[in-house]
Amino acid sequence: MYRAILIDLDDTILDFGAAEHVAIAKTFRDIGLEPTAELLRRYSEINLSQWEAFERGEITRDTVLIRRFELLFQELGLPMEAQPVEDIYRGYLGIGHYFVDGAVELLEYLAPRYDLYIASNGVAATQYSRLESAQISHFFKDIFISEVTGHHKPEKAYFDYCFAHIPNFSRDTTLMIGDSLTSDILGGKNAGVATCWFNRDRRPGRADIVPDYEVKCLEELKGLL
Ligand SMILES: [Mg+2]
Repeated sequence: MYRAILIDLDDTILDFGAAEHVAIAKTFRDIGLEPTAELLRRYSEINLSQWEAFERGEITRDTVLIRRFELLFQELGLPMEAQPVEDIYRGYLGIGHYFVDGAVELLEYLAPRYDLYIASNGVAATQYSRLESAQISHFFKDIFISEVTGHHKPEKAYFDYCFAHIPNFSRDTTLMIGDSLTSDILGGKNAGVATCWFNRDRRPGRADIVPDYEVKCLEELKGLL
């Protein structure tokens, strides 16, 4: 029986993909670039490659935020500064929120039954702003944003920080839910808690990162918990 549940934010509760898509298209328009499907796809590839390098511990978060635009502008042959563009994007990202299907219903179901905690990798100001915009903070006993903790998923130090801030914490009664095998599930496993992979897009699994549970939609979690 679980008592504490750590829940990832992006693409588990809030649809980051939708928020990102709107914010990046607005940003490109602001700097005079037409946000074509091709431009958005290429940005998305570069962005993902940088976040993967971050997860592997090769570069810092601040480097990711700037380098994704630097690499894109280099590729397009545009003599543009990355920082002002990142600032515009950050502003747009903080004001939009879109829920993953069933997210609010799930939180309403879980909140009276479990102690819920947000466990999110991300930029603190943006994540707080999105939580505020989505008006879901009251569902959670505490919010653990990687930038504030000084570590990020899947690092064990990140989970140690969370566990130290959970009253009467016990590994046996704690569950980590998230959409990322490489940050949420790997991190939870390394930290010694049960894990549930929210695999909305039905991606193939990995033999080396096997979750305790897997669900395709948030609704399924109610049957599990
Ligand atoms: Mg996520």
